Parts: sequence; C-alpha cells; structure tokens
Amino acid sequence: MRATSITRIPGIVQGLRHSYNRGVTRPEAWRREQLLRLRKLLQDRGADFERALFDDLGKSGTESQLTEIGFLISEIDHALAHLSKWMRPRRVSVPLAVLPASARIIPEPLGVVLVIAPWNYPLMLALSPLIGALAAGNAAVVKPSELAPATSALIGRTLADALDPRAVAVIEGAVPETTALLEERFDHIFYTGSGRVGRIIARAAAEHLTPITLELGGKSPAYVDDTVPLAETARRIAWGKFINAGQTCVAPDYVLGTAKVLRELAPLLEDAIRDLYGTATDRNPDYGRIVDDAQFSRLVGYLDDGVVVAGGRHDSASRFIEPTLLTGVGRDSSVMREEIFGPILPLIEVQDLGDAIGFVAERDKPLAAYVFSDDGDTRRRWERETSSGALSFGVPVLQLVAPELPFGGVGASGMGAYHGERSFLVFSHEKPVLSKPLVPDTLAATIMPPYTAAKDTL
Ligand code: NAD
Repeated sequence: MRATSITRIPGIVQGLRHSYNRGVTRPEAWRREQLLRLRKLLQDRGADFERALFDDLGKSGTESQLTEIGFLISEIDHALAHLSKWMRPRRVSVPLAVLPASARIIPEPLGVVLVIAPWNYPLMLALSPLIGALAAGNAAVVKPSELAPATSALIGRTLADALDPRAVAVIEGAVPETTALLEERFDHIFYTGSGRVGRIIARAAAEHLTPITLELGGKSPAYVDDTVPLAETARRIAWGKFINAGQTCVAPDYVLGTAKVLRELAPLLEDAIRDLYGTATDRNPDYGRIVDDAQFSRLVGYLDDGVVVAGGRHDSASRFIEPTLLTGVGRDSSVMREEIFGPILPLIEVQDLGDAIGFVAERDKPLAAYVFSDDGDTRRRWERETSSGALSFGVPVLQLVAPELPFGGVGASGMGAYHGERSFLVFSHEKPVLSKPLVPDTLAATIMPPYTAAKDTL
C-alpha cells in the first residue's frame, strides 16, 4: 500500500490553506475549470480506473462505468449546468420593523475541507464529495481507502496533477495517516464509512469545532407484501442486494414478509439470481469479490446463523461468496445485529405489517427502507411510522441517482446529506447579509431606549 509520509501532512494542509487564503479557489471560472478537468481525467483514464476497480473488488467494467465513473460524470455535468445559479446571492424579505433595509444570502466557500472515503465504491465515494467541495470554491484533501489500494494509488497518482495542485491534495494511507490528518484544522470533514470510525472522526473534529458530514451505513430493510408482482420484486431486490457483491451501503440488508409471502418469494429470488448472474456465479465476470480476508471471514461466519436455502458456496482464495439466501434466522443473531455488507440475504418472517414496522422502528435508523406494496395505507404507514435516511417504493438503491434528492442518513446511519445542490451547500456557508441605510434613522423611534409604552407593542 502506498502511503503519504506523515511528516509531510502539516505542510500539505498549510499549502492548501495558503492557496485558499489567496483566493485561488473562489472564482467561478476556476471552479468550472476544475470540474471540467476532473471530467476529462475520468474519461481519459476510464480504462485505468476500471482496471483498478477490478483489481480491488473484481468489479466488471460495465458496473464500474454505471456506478462509479459514469455516475461521477453525470454529477459533474449537473454541477456545471447549475453552478451559476447555485452561486448567485438570494434576496430575502425583512420584517416591516426593520425597513428600510435589504437582505441577501450569499453562499461562500468554507475553506480547506477533508474528504475521507471508504473502499466499497472507492472512486465514486472519494470524488463525489470533491465535486461539491470544488463547486463551492474550497481547497480539498482527499483520503482514499487503503483497503482499495489500486484505486487509491491511481487517485494518488493522477488527481492532484489533473486538478490544480495548489488547491487539491491526495493523502494516501491507513489509520496512522488519517489520524495525523485529523490533527490538522479543517473547515469541514466529509466522512463516508462505518459508524465506529465515524465516532472517531466526530471526536477529532470536536477539538477544532469542525463541522462534519457523516455518511454511515446500517441495516436497510426491504418489506414485501402480497399486493405486488413478486417475480419483478424479487428481481429488483436481487439486483440491489448483489450488485458489488452486496458491498453497497444502500443495499437491502434483509427482507421482511409474512410466511406466505416469503414462501413464494424465496424461489423467485433464486430465479432472479440465476437470471442476473447465471448458475456458475464464480465464473461470471459481472459478479464481484469480497474486498479482503477479514470481511470474507466475517461474512462466512453469518452462514451459521440460519438455514442456507440458496447459494452458500464460498472460496477463501478468491474471496468469492455466492449470492446467498438465509431463512430460519433469529431476530437477535449476529447477522441481524450487524450490517451485513455482503451477498447474504436473510428472509425474516413477520406476523403482519405492524410487526414489520415495529421491527424496523425499534432498531437503529437505517440508511434506506424499501417497501414493495401497492397498498396506499401500507405505504403511508411506512412514511409516518418509520424513520430512515431515504424511503423508496418499488425499487432499491436508485434514490441515490436523483440529484434533486438529498442523499444521507439519519440517527445511526449518519448526519448531513449531499448530491446535486446539497453537495454545493454542504461545502458552503450561507452568509446572511443585511444592509440598512443610516438615514432615515427609524430605529430610535422603534427599538432603542428609552423604552416607552408605545414600543411594547412593536
Ligand atoms: P471504515 O470506516 O473502516 O473506513 C473508512 C475510512 O476511514 C477509510 O479511509 C479509512 O482509512 C478510515 N479509517 C479507518 N479506521 C480509522 C481510524 N481508526 N481513524 C481514522 N480513520 C480511519 O469504513 P469501511 O469499512 O471502509 O466502509 C464500510 C461502511 O461504510 C459500512 O458501514 C457502509 O454502510 C458505510 N458506507 C456508507 C456509505 C454512505 O454513503 N452512507 C457509502 C459507503 C459505505
């Protein structure tokens, strides 16, 4: 694994701050140029990024284009199309008592920001926050995940050169390097990863009173009832679950349904897996691999928590785990206490809708909840009685490709949101600017002492 020398870190951050303070990153033209250069890098080096993602996660080229490279290019295009509007000051009204006066909100950059990325979509989750940071006019440090070393190295080798090295730096490394980085003062820290490390980030940020965004995970449920076509439902759940071999923060973690629904759904899920990946999943280039041995052993351990009704084959040498369905799983077993983050899908039996909602509502708030029901009352109850980062009816995962929808968690699944304009706002301070003429001086007669009875009524 490549790592940046820890002794260089303070100087790198200082250099970025110097550039920021000199106003390098503020002009709209600079922001646009960086976004265009990032777009060009992704296009020109697309094949190299695909290869790195294959080396790290066995990702197919098409999947890398769809979920990482192409996704980033769309985000850049959206930012470029809207940047002028996002940057424009917004006029707002003031109360009568304050008139004559005018008020505006001016978005200003925060300064030098830090983006810490995880390994599961190692390119997309490192660069998607960066798009917002650059659009908003910040200098930025990107810290890719050491668990996706090929992608980290390629980002390290290409990013700062492709962009303006005065204002963008990549720090590679693991815990020691990240710990050293967190000692520096940043103006925002944007972290994607586990809640365990999220707490470490929050503690470090508190030292400098640095605002943070935490994009965490959780157990996202998929609830299925008998009002929807089950074959199509099974296909969508299987797609959302097994893409990237289940290592997706918004993947359906488990399925909730009555005994009757699950009895019908299980064979349809098997059919869907076969349709998507064939029978020899281990030889299918569209199906990914588990990122490392520690994750592999953790996942294989879950297979003992229930009855494997489909899949279950695994190979430690290639870190392959077949798409797997588990039934007979205890509600308090470890596979139901921890986020699975791999290709194992427990089917959990519930008595009825109330039992399913109660099951979700009494656990940590998930990053997403997926409801497959055409019944209006059922949908409304999920909207009102459960809380999750996002709620989707009829399809998993896709909520994150709509740039107008804020993407983020709530409670244990995170704080803050991004994508589209939210990415710009996360890295901006919305500065209120009030402007009042000194003449006529209405304040003496309204809010200044001496206080008279007439002023009580204002
Ligand atoms: P992780 O927390 O182990 O690692 C993420 C980053 O934190 C890496 O860059 C790593 O170097 C750094 N890090 C690790 N230990 C650290 C420490 N002690 N001090 C400082 N930094 C440290 O997370 P992960 O295992 O890479 O990612 C998996 C988790 O991320 C899952 O829970 C998943 O749901 C979540 N996730 C969330 C989203 C989202 O958008 N909400 C996206 C992807 C993954």
